[in-house]
Amino acid sequence: MKYRRLGKSGLKVSELSFGSWVTFNKQVDSKLAEKMFGICFDAGINFFDNAEGYEAGESEVVMGNALKSLNRPRDSYCVSSKVFFGSNKNPTPTQIGLSRKHVTEACHQAMKRLQVDYLDLYFCHRADPETPIGETVWAMHNLVTQGKILYWGTSEWTADEISEAYEFAFENNLTPPTMEQPQYNLLDRKRFEIEYAPIFEKYEMGTTIWSPLASGALTGKYQEGIPEGSRASLKGYEWLKKHMIDSDRGKARMEKVNKFMPIAEELGTNLTKLAIAWCLLNDNVSTVILGASKPEQLKENIESLEVIPLLTEEVQKKLSSI
Ligand code: NDP
Repeated sequence: MKYRRLGKSGLKVSELSFGSWVTFNKQVDSKLAEKMFGICFDAGINFFDNAEGYEAGESEVVMGNALKSLNRPRDSYCVSSKVFFGSNKNPTPTQIGLSRKHVTEACHQAMKRLQVDYLDLYFCHRADPETPIGETVWAMHNLVTQGKILYWGTSEWTADEISEAYEFAFENNLTPPTMEQPQYNLLDRKRFEIEYAPIFEKYEMGTTIWSPLASGALTGKYQEGIPEGSRASLKGYEWLKKHMIDSDRGKARMEKVNKFMPIAEELGTNLTKLAIAWCLLNDNVSTVILGASKPEQLKENIESLEVIPLLTEEVQKKLSSI
């Protein structure tokens, strides 16, 4: 495992990390999570991603229990949470968004559920047009000075919103964001490569990228239908199935997957590993957050590191042309 600096901070994160969206508390319980974290630690993974909104906070409970059982030194790994969507299924207006109140309380609640004294990374899960950006920056800065969070960042903010947060922090001598958590994979490139290009240059922002396999589409396993137990088959994720498969957009993406697959085969690997390895070719990626519902998937995904040297410029051009 190699380690990359999280933007211009001094924090070194493993180039592959592990997240819990959809899986923890739905497909993965604390016992299985413990096994999967064991695989991660053995491979050198040092960052685990979570959010208040995943399974209404229960994903953090599963992660907290599993990490506690493993009893690794707290200074040897990083955990995150994200604030915005709330952890209450029927939230009141003060239980969501990026107000000082919710940002502060969500941090306290996440630390409790994760059974940690501080969060290493804390993200604004989306931008909140109903809270002045300065209020959120101040709230994050205060949490940093209180030692409750170490680095703060954004997730799926526009380049303009991110710039506003940096500029407000600089003008007021507050702690600026360190990282953004955007989607980035072979099928979703535009925001990361085009919209963010100027702010990577200007702020040296780090990134913890999500859905490297586009929720599993880039494994190729949906080409013959929807496998039983897969993400697109889960109750409550019908919207994702539509987005991934049952829409014009989904169909067009699946056609691209069909074209990617033989390129992986020609290289003697598979699309899953190629797709994950491809994300790491971009220097603006600090870490690729893996998702897995089974230990075997996690092991396979970690093996993608071996595929990086196969991705020559010629191969990259072929992929880009699709
Ligand atoms: P992926 O795109 O890699 O999708 C992961 C899913 O694909 C798995 O749960 C599994 O689903 C399937 N899969 C993974 N590996 C394999 C394999 N080798 N063979 C077959 N199927 C496989 O990542 P995620 O979408 O899970 O995103 C990763 C992390 O990023 C999340 O856990 C979360 O921490 C973060 N995230 C952040 C977001 C944000 O807004 N900030 C949004 C989304 C994610 P199954 O077995 O059920 O089919």
